[in-house]
Amino acid sequence: MIALMFGPPGSGKGTQASRVAVRLGIPHVAAGDMLRSEVARDTALGREAKPIMDAGGLVPDDLVVRMIESRLDQPDAANGVLLDGFPRTVPQALALDAMLAARNDRVAWVVSLEVPDDELKTRILKRATTEGRSDDTAEGLAQRLIVYRQDTAPVLEHYRGAGTRIAAINGVGDIDAITERIMQALSHDGVAARTA
Ligand code: AMP
Repeated sequence: MIALMFGPPGSGKGTQASRVAVRLGIPHVAAGDMLRSEVARDTALGREAKPIMDAGGLVPDDLVVRMIESRLDQPDAANGVLLDGFPRTVPQALALDAMLAARNDRVAWVVSLEVPDDELKTRILKRATTEGRSDDTAEGLAQRLIVYRQDTAPVLEHYRGAGTRIAAINGVGDIDAITERIMQALSHDGVAARTA
């Protein structure tokens, strides 16, 4: 089962995706974490990505698509993954759909985390002091929100148009409560949590 965790920067996608992936028993595949690891290892991809990430822009589609495609080829992804931060553009979504169609698969559902802009700003600036991410600055956030509205929000419309199940979840409140909201929405949709 291929699922997507979708939402603006600071919406808690990463936090919720890692929890929901454990509950579903599938790997959490976070494009931003993979790119940060490339940067930390100073690979060719990391060197290309770093200035773009620091400026709040998007790494070119072909690089990210290749990175995700090779991740989906790993044996632990055979039963599906929860994708976080990918696809972030409509061309990435089309590439993902084609990749999955070649395996007789498709995106099964999308969780869309909804958080107002004021709250996003507060969270990102707080994260800047705790996690030290080099793109967590007021300017970085402003740019990432512009990019989100312009390039990423249309991805949700792409999946809505394709008839994919979309769970719109209120992403404000207690972290545990939000995880439960997501799990409840999925169980309504017939997605079973791992019982063990
Ligand atoms: P995130 O950890 O999801 O907030 O991602 C951090 C940064 O990594 C983003 O602001 C982008 O610069 C880059 N990035 C992550 N995922 C993608 C993607 N799917 N396409 C392009 N750039 C990405």
